[in-house]
Amino acid sequence: MIADAHVHLDAYSPDELRDVLSEAASSGVELIVTVGMDAASSAAGLAIAQSEPNVYAAVGLHPWNAQDYPSGAPIGELRELATRPKVVAIGEIGLDFLNNLFLDLSYDDPDLRATQERVFREQLRLAVELELPVIVHSRGGAHETTARVLEEEGVACVGGCIQFFEGTPDDVARYVALGFTFTVGSSVTFADPGGWCETVRAVPGDALLLETDAPYLPYAGREPARSTPADVRRIGETVAQLRGVDATEVFSASITNLRRALPRIGAAG
Ligand SMILES: [Zn+2]
Repeated sequence: MIADAHVHLDAYSPDELRDVLSEAASSGVELIVTVGMDAASSAAGLAIAQSEPNVYAAVGLHPWNAQDYPSGAPIGELRELATRPKVVAIGEIGLDFLNNLFLDLSYDDPDLRATQERVFREQLRLAVELELPVIVHSRGGAHETTARVLEEEGVACVGGCIQFFEGTPDDVARYVALGFTFTVGSSVTFADPGGWCETVRAVPGDALLLETDAPYLPYAGREPARSTPADVRRIGETVAQLRGVDATEVFSASITNLRRALPRIGAAG
């Protein structure tokens, strides 16, 4: 049995979703956390979680959508969603300083960075208020700022996961000190992981989680180019090879560590 700690199930059509979930179940995927990009996609993900026993939801505003909220995150809507059954975290929230070709945005713009940080902080305060862990997206050289903001907002009391983690061993130490775990994704399957092996080995065994970020970020060689939660098995096998352990150890850690990082799983009904 294995857990996929980070997917976007609302991005599939209803027909695709039925196939994707049955394929995941037959691949031994026992737990799935579906994560929001804004209030509408958070509500859509939550509706799926409420009809699927093994699916839980996180609600939040992704940093890519921050620029649509220059006067602040939709905290009222997110708070209302976050108090419903099956919500186990606030996410996907965070910082992304990578210039975004899809959205034609340059994060060299200081106003855009300031807006991202503002909505991130507002959502961290919501998480602390509701005692919910956070699922954090940190890309494009943002780890130092992300860790500082998490510390300044006192988020260690709720903790959570650093999503699609591709940081350095120093970043691992910084986040572990704040009580965070790491979801490792398809980057590990690519031929030149660029320092990845060292980082994957540096993650403590009790802080290691797996994710697909499905339907995005397929593993190396995956056809068609859309991923599904069943692919988490392949990612877990690669992580096990890099750490020199048996895959079953990584699979079982993916469940145990996810339940510890997001304790409302199971308790949320
Ligand atoms: Zn994601």
